[in-house]
Amino acid sequence: MKKKDKIIAAPPRRLWDQLVRAAARARAGSVSPYSKFKVGAALLTNAGEIIGGANVESASYGLTCCAERVALFKALTAGKHNFVAVAVVARWDGGPMPCGACRQLLAEYAPDASVFIADSDDLKKIRAFTVRGLLPEAFVFNPDAP
Ligand SMILES: [Zn+2]
Repeated sequence: MKKKDKIIAAPPRRLWDQLVRAAARARAGSVSPYSKFKVGAALLTNAGEIIGGANVESASYGLTCCAERVALFKALTAGKHNFVAVAVVARWDGGPMPCGACRQLLAEYAPDASVFIADSDDLKKIRAFTVRGLLPEAFVFNPDAP
């Protein structure tokens, strides 16, 4: 883990495991007929709620939405905020890292969150990052700025 990814006030390890398992369960909902690359994500709120999501693909490939964003959109549209962590799981050595688009959305809506990544074949081996570490100097827009 690089120093910039040092986690401050990360959820306890028990919650990492719980969140990674929730992401693995959410992965079962993946709609990925083209790539067959099934990804699950789960967000943890500071109230202890967990919201899962999975990737959804389109025949028009560019319309595909990643599991992290599906989980985030589900959570936000259900009125959930204050995310403390997100887990992402897929069958990939070392686990799937969030793409740039997801990093941007996480930077906007979950800037203080920890990020836990795991391979679905080895849920006990969790790599830990932070949203800030994964997207330093993220794009921000302040409509009130002069
Ligand atoms: Zn993504």
